[in-house]
Amino acid sequence: MASSEFSLIKQYFSRQQVQRQDVDLAIGDDCALVQAPVNSQIAISTDSLVAGTHFLADADPKKVAYKALASNISDLAAMGATPSWVSLALTMPKPDEAWLEQFCDGFFELADRHQIQLIGGDTTKGPLSITLTIQGMVPQGKALLRSGAKAGDWLFVTGNLGDSAAGLEVILGERHSGSTLEKTLENRHYFSEPRVLAGQALRGLASSALDISDGLIADLGHILESSNVSAAIDVNKLPLSAELLDFCHDKETAQQVALSSGEEYELCFTVPEENKQYIESALAHTDTKVTCIGQIQAGKGITLRDGDTELDWHLSGFDHFRSES
Ligand code: ADP
Ligand code: MG
Repeated sequence: MASSEFSLIKQYFSRQQVQRQDVDLAIGDDCALVQAPVNSQIAISTDSLVAGTHFLADADPKKVAYKALASNISDLAAMGATPSWVSLALTMPKPDEAWLEQFCDGFFELADRHQIQLIGGDTTKGPLSITLTIQGMVPQGKALLRSGAKAGDWLFVTGNLGDSAAGLEVILGERHSGSTLEKTLENRHYFSEPRVLAGQALRGLASSALDISDGLIADLGHILESSNVSAAIDVNKLPLSAELLDFCHDKETAQQVALSSGEEYELCFTVPEENKQYIESALAHTDTKVTCIGQIQAGKGITLRDGDTELDWHLSGFDHFRSES
């Protein structure tokens, strides 16, 4: 972009409040310079959101920014890492002050809350898209991987499941009653809270972890594949919000939504039997609900149970992981 257009954009991104001690040089030079603590590893993750693919071009920029950053932070949370620095590659058709202003509102609200500093980026002209690279720290060798689950481990999730998908249904639905129920679910879709403190607290206790971005069934499948194990879930244990139960009318539908709802940004993790007793107290200070929903077993696939009865539910993203396939 022309330099005058560019200085406009830089003006927006210099609005942030966070100034970290470990950042020696931020926006303005050819590179940012940061200091990595000794005995830590740097965790790095990139996410791209493209208008028309991941969000509508006319979507509220505040919500787009929040969601882009929240999903990025959530990847670090799932590793037990603490987010520190983020860079933003922004491509837009033309400099749009109103859009940038709102985008920055959503972005910095969340970045400030987590003490994450925007240290640089790139700005180009083209179809609207946002690419974020987040970096953070995790004590050497302590990151939570997908590959550590063992038969006998217990399966846990944070928060409630299903609200994000129900919220999306409200957003895309044709009829809006504007009820508080609908508003609550809509907000759960747009404004999830990445589980950073919970991820940190699980270091040394959980044997594997990931964040739920594509739905519990699909994402748990990644742990099972990486760890070469299977899982049994008791659908009665799934944590469902009162709002979801109300929205779905019957419990079975709510359970099915909870199993497949994407963009939850809750953590799914496994815990060896000897650590199970410590989970609640370890997470007590994080204000995070945790629920044991099942157990890891030998073999392949996911079995769904209602108490002792095996269920034959066909959910999107589910068939691929069934034991007999
Ligand atoms: P260069 O030509 O060296 O890539 P730029 O003119 O693209 O430099 O960027 C100048 C400075 O502004 C750099 O420090 C860069 O990190 C920062 N910057 C550019 N775009 C953004 C953005 N969208 N968000 C944050 N920082 C940005
Ligand atoms: Mg550049």
